[in-house]
Formats: sequence, C-alpha cells, structure tokens
Amino acid sequence: MSELKPADKLAAVADRIRLAAENCQRDSCEISLLAVSKTQGSDAIRKLFSAGVTRFGENYLQEAQDKQARLGDLPIEWHFIGPMQSNKTRAVARNFSWVHSLDRLKIARRLSAQRPDDLPALNCLLQVNIDDENSKSGVKPEDVPGFAAELTNLAGISFRGLMTIPAASRDYATQYDSYRRLAEIYASLRTDHASCDNLSMGMSGDLEAAIAAGATIVRVGTDLFGARN
Ligand SMILES: *Cc1c(COP(=O)(O)O)cnc(C)c1O
Repeated sequence: MSELKPADKLAAVADRIRLAAENCQRDSCEISLLAVSKTQGSDAIRKLFSAGVTRFGENYLQEAQDKQARLGDLPIEWHFIGPMQSNKTRAVARNFSWVHSLDRLKIARRLSAQRPDDLPALNCLLQVNIDDENSKSGVKPEDVPGFAAELTNLAGISFRGLMTIPAASRDYATQYDSYRRLAEIYASLRTDHASCDNLSMGMSGDLEAAIAAGATIVRVGTDLFGARN
C-alpha cells in the first residue's frame, strides 16, 4: 500500500474498522484509532494529522520527545505504548496523556507521584501477557485483579483498562481467541472499577478479530504509514 497517500491509507483503515464493527453489530464510534508512529518521521505524523488523526502512539521515549518538540504546534494526544524503565517515568508522566504498557507496580507508583499537578490524571492501561509468552511484557492474567486494586490508591493515574499484544498469528480464530480471553478479564474487572472503560487491542494484521472481541482502541502502524525500516 506504500504508493497510497496518507489520506488514502487512513480511509482504507477507517473502512476496515467500520466494516468490522458492522459485522458484529457494534457502533464504530466506540472504536478509536491510535496511529502507531514509532520509527516514522514528524512529517509523516503531520500528514496523517492533517488527514484527521489526532492520537499517536510511540514506543521509545527519546524518539517520541524529538517528535513532540517538532510537532508542538499540533494538539496531538500522545500515548506511550512501549516498555518503560524507571528512569523514564518522569518524562512519560509529563509528556503523555495515556500509557498502554503498565505492567509493574513500581512504575505505576512513580508515574502517579511524578504526574504534574496541573495536568489531569495520567490515563493508564494494564498490559496483559494474554498468551503467557516468555518474550512478552505484561501482567499474567491471574494477577490482573490484584494489580488493578493497587492502582486505585494512586491519585496521579487513572486506571482506564487493559491492553495486550497476543502471540503473532495469521489465523483469525487464533487471534479472536486471545482477544476474547482479554475481553473476559476486562468484563469481570468492570464491576469493581468504574473508570475501566477501554480495551486496547488489535494491530494492522488483526484489527478485525480484536473489534469482534470488543476492542475500543486499535493500534495501527504499518497499514497507516507503510512498512517500518
Ligand atoms: C508497533 C506496534 C503496533 C503497531 O503494529 P502494526 O502491525 O505496525 O500495525 C501496535 N502496538 C504496539 C504495542 C506496537 O509496538
């Protein structure tokens, strides 16, 4: 799809989201698009912003801060979606509206303490290692309720839901099975946590399965920007 213009790529992704929602009788307004801009330059972000995308996700702090400095004139909502070391929490707490990759209590406490008072609470999603892979970050499914309970004591962050990156698969049924298991954990949490209202799941290759299972945020990189270097 690299020959397509940014606006055309966006239209194609928006069509996929709309069709996937239709196929499972969901309102596509319940699903928001996060453009994953890791490794992409600020010009590419600017073009996609002009086409109507306002939420961008970054994985690496230094890279994100360089782009934020260049794009300071745009009202972008920045989401941090990558692994985070303790020494990065202060900058993340200051420069992002959302974190999707929370999986350690120590990081949660630091983000809460370091969130500036003049900003609203930092929206945080718990990353869940839904397929129990050694290579992946994330809280184990059975540890999610306990972790979520701890977050309610932290005033600087708001617990907004769950995120996952499942085991890679091209098979729809396998994709759907992983996302369905996360959606079940999410549904059971919501009885105790009123603020928990987002499921961040689905990428370029599997957003249809994620939407069918209940995604409210899909994180799309490749199909919006083209292949990464
Ligand atoms: C890179 C990345 C994505 C986007 O993946 P694509 O396959 O390029 O759409 C989504 N989520 C996370 C956490 C990522 O690191």
